[in-house]
Amino acid sequence: MPLYGRGYKDKILKVDLSSGSCWTEKLDEKVMRLLLGGKGLGAWILYNEMAPHTDPLSPETPLIFVVGPLTGTTAPSAGRFGVLTKSPATGAFLDSYCGGFFAQTMKYAGYDAIVIRGAAREPKILIIDDEKVRIEDGTGVWGKTVMEATKTLKITYGEGFQTVVIGPAGERAAPIAGIFSDQRTAGRGGAGAVMGSKKLKGIAIRGTGRVEVADPHEFEEAVWIAHRMLRMSSQIKRLMTEGTANILELVNVAGALPTRNFQSGQFEENEKLWGEAWSREYWKRSIACHGCPIACSKVAYSKTRDIAVDGPDYETIFAVGTNCGVSDKEAIIYANYLCDLYGIDTISVGGIIAFVMELYQRGMISAEELDGIKAEWGNGDALVQLTEKIAKGEGIGELLQKGVREISKNFPGSEGFAMQVKGLEMPGYLPRAAKGIGLSYAISERGACHLRGSPLIEILGGADPLTVDGKAALFKTTQLDVAVIDAAILCYFVKFGITLKEVYQMINPCTGFGYESPRELHKVGERITTLARLFNTREGFSSKDDVLPKRSLSEPLPSGPAKGHVVELDELRSEYYKLMGWDEKGVPTEETLVRLGLREILAE
Ligand code: SF4
Repeated sequence: MPLYGRGYKDKILKVDLSSGSCWTEKLDEKVMRLLLGGKGLGAWILYNEMAPHTDPLSPETPLIFVVGPLTGTTAPSAGRFGVLTKSPATGAFLDSYCGGFFAQTMKYAGYDAIVIRGAAREPKILIIDDEKVRIEDGTGVWGKTVMEATKTLKITYGEGFQTVVIGPAGERAAPIAGIFSDQRTAGRGGAGAVMGSKKLKGIAIRGTGRVEVADPHEFEEAVWIAHRMLRMSSQIKRLMTEGTANILELVNVAGALPTRNFQSGQFEENEKLWGEAWSREYWKRSIACHGCPIACSKVAYSKTRDIAVDGPDYETIFAVGTNCGVSDKEAIIYANYLCDLYGIDTISVGGIIAFVMELYQRGMISAEELDGIKAEWGNGDALVQLTEKIAKGEGIGELLQKGVREISKNFPGSEGFAMQVKGLEMPGYLPRAAKGIGLSYAISERGACHLRGSPLIEILGGADPLTVDGKAALFKTTQLDVAVIDAAILCYFVKFGITLKEVYQMINPCTGFGYESPRELHKVGERITTLARLFNTREGFSSKDDVLPKRSLSEPLPSGPAKGHVVELDELRSEYYKLMGWDEKGVPTEETLVRLGLREILAE
């Protein structure tokens, strides 16, 4: 049975920037049934088409844009695309997701994936107008900020075109550079640097098609149920009114709010940064990604500068706020704005500045070495100045833009408080205050990641955060659920309103695959997670890399509800490997690969 018309377009667009050639290939039905699409399809392409140990910034590295079977349908919060590649920050598997209006346009244009390889000699723009694809000179936008480049492409190509671009940081291949669609970001892990290394400034895409599903009647019923459940969820309601920042108060109460480079888990000025405070003082409107009833994004207007930002969201408020001891909202807004302007990841930037502030606190770096910046905790001016240095890669910013792990190499003795895993800076939950989060940061294939499990289950009281009992199983279950969501592709936040059952009820009539139960879909998630793991093991990653910084492992938390706690990682990690059918080094066993059917679809 053809895949076209079952949530798929049955087409992968391939672009070689070295030769300037473009062509399309069909999907493989067996692969799609086993891996569904989105992350699954991207992981399969990455594994099969990339030679091991390829430099992430070499022309041979593929940069893969994917959508899922639900993209462009009426399913709620399905307006997101994924970017997959090998991360220049970690050297590991990278998948990063972004909202806005690019995803459904890519599907309407007729593509399930766009795979870009090679590298142009001069800056280029990729133009996709339904089936017409061309590569144009991008010299005129090279050097422009994210906002300038986006505006220029929209004016140049006109009505109906959606864009992704990189900023100046991506052009110079900074490993913290993201890919931006309007002000939405595929931020983590440096996909923007891979795009910059190919000299590709942006993609402009227009699609005039529509998305058909296998059983429209049953599909619409399932979609109606999902919408209804989302509307009824109290957590979704809080996302609607206060954005992701609504959780800051709860995370602080749990003692899991990273403060001053993860030294503690409660910020004394946390009230100033609650969602309610942002809502009252700064947020003037909400915006939604395509087809999203939640509209979690809030737009803040500065009172002292003529700027507005999409955000700041919880992760940004923690990263450049509490983790740097900063409560000055104007400074947080401006740091957020600079990151968006130059095209860098706010979580990594906050992690870098917090690390620098601790080096400064310990007398390991001076203001002179920081181009005259006094990097004191809570200093909003220093936050802004350091963000600007990193964004422009100038002065001390040339070193800082490389990320915490690389900076730490210049400061012997700092490794224990360099808060990163596999080279990726830690997101906004303190591992010592929620043990399952510690496991997820250590294991996640792209490095420290808050989106590969469900940290909020522990924070919101769904599981005792301070025990290791049952945490490996909890992480496994939520991790595999998220892998399905990233294959479908839905927004991560739908998890606060619907379960895998509702996703299953939409996927079957959409694809016609006839999965027998949500459990079978869960197995798709296991297959995808194992495939990403295989990519990493082939690159040389193993249990030695599934670690946490010493601070999380052997520095008892000094205060708060988790006072005295560390993460008992060895125990958690061994149990998790067993549950996944991986050996003691974290390598999936042959038996597991056969059980999951992966052997049948992988290149030797
Ligand atoms: S919940 Fe927020 S991030 Fe997710 S799709 Fe909706 S607006 Fe976009």
